[in-house]
Amino acid sequence: MNKRTILLNPGPVTLTDRVRAALAAGDWCHREPEFAALTASLNGRLAGVYPALARDYRSVLLAGSGTAAVEAMLVSFAPVDHRTLVLANGVYGERMGRMLAAHRRPFELLNNGWTAPLDLPAVEARLAGNPDISHVAVVQHETTTGRLNDLAALGRLCKARQVTLLLDAVSSFGAEELAGEDWNVGALAGAANKCLHGVPGLAFVLAPVRAWEPLSAAGSDATDSVYLHLGRYYQDQHGGGYSPFTLPVQLAFALDAALDEFAEAGGWKARGRAYRERASRVRKTLAAAGVPALLPPAECSAALCAYRLPDGLTYAALHDALKAEGFIIYAGQGALAREIFRIAHMGDIRPADLDRLCALLPGILAGQQGSAGQSGRTR
Ligand SMILES: *Cc1c(COP(=O)(O)O)cnc(C)c1O
Repeated sequence: MNKRTILLNPGPVTLTDRVRAALAAGDWCHREPEFAALTASLNGRLAGVYPALARDYRSVLLAGSGTAAVEAMLVSFAPVDHRTLVLANGVYGERMGRMLAAHRRPFELLNNGWTAPLDLPAVEARLAGNPDISHVAVVQHETTTGRLNDLAALGRLCKARQVTLLLDAVSSFGAEELAGEDWNVGALAGAANKCLHGVPGLAFVLAPVRAWEPLSAAGSDATDSVYLHLGRYYQDQHGGGYSPFTLPVQLAFALDAALDEFAEAGGWKARGRAYRERASRVRKTLAAAGVPALLPPAECSAALCAYRLPDGLTYAALHDALKAEGFIIYAGQGALAREIFRIAHMGDIRPADLDRLCALLPGILAGQQGSAGQSGRTR
């Protein structure tokens, strides 16, 4: 029996042996110079993932999942005296609205519904009619549906209107194209455990130096959050490498190893390509079994694809049958829970794993559909 569990959920991902081994590299104090050096090195490597960010952008690391990084980005960079326009077409966009509300930042929501692309003419109209809006917050890859939002077009619009873009790039950083100043990106949030193949619990925010400096000068007095305000993180991590609060030392070892593998594998373009090859195999297999994708391939991220649950097959039945074979898929959220299932392509998914998955799926789909409706736990 195959002992590896293959995670086809959108993070955490199946770790490579090398990243898993790095977790056991040793016991370091986070206030010793060797860890300060590792922190500084990781920040440099993260900014270096994209040539478009390498020169002007700086990263800070914080302990937390991707949501912590997104909230820290908004707490640190969403203005108090202007409005932020949140573009939502899924759970994560809507969550940014909730964060801004929680921190009492002025914002408005442009919600298109979960299966629609961004409505750029509506964004343009909203910006034109509201000079008060200085920032736009958006998710690059809306993991709810697997949609890759068209950030090049939105970024050009923001650049032309001198509106600052705040980006949830948690499930796209490391696999999709990202620009910096060309899209007027004022900050972006990412996490170790998605396209970078690290361990959950370590996240990061990148912003241009011109945005960090005033934030850092304001120090820790200027805000409504002690932990999430990133001014001190920047000040400390870029003024010696230390951090205001404890970083998860072992997760930093793991991210370092993951970034080694990322570079050796050819960087973000190669990773995106590898994911798309995996996606295309699964998509073809499912299409042949009569299971269509939710979105056309051109609108899909590299990291994840959503599929329509066939009539008469429950998510639970499909999930349990695959789990029994060592594969973990992911349910739809909210109203989509009964309509879709999701398959992510991140992490250490080997050709043999994909072969096995694609060999299993047609049988499971054919065998389950007749018996579905009686039990959620058939196998
Ligand atoms: C995974 C993810 C997050 C972070 O979710 P956590 O549960 O905090 O890891 C944020 N945004 C997007 C788009 C994601 O896919």
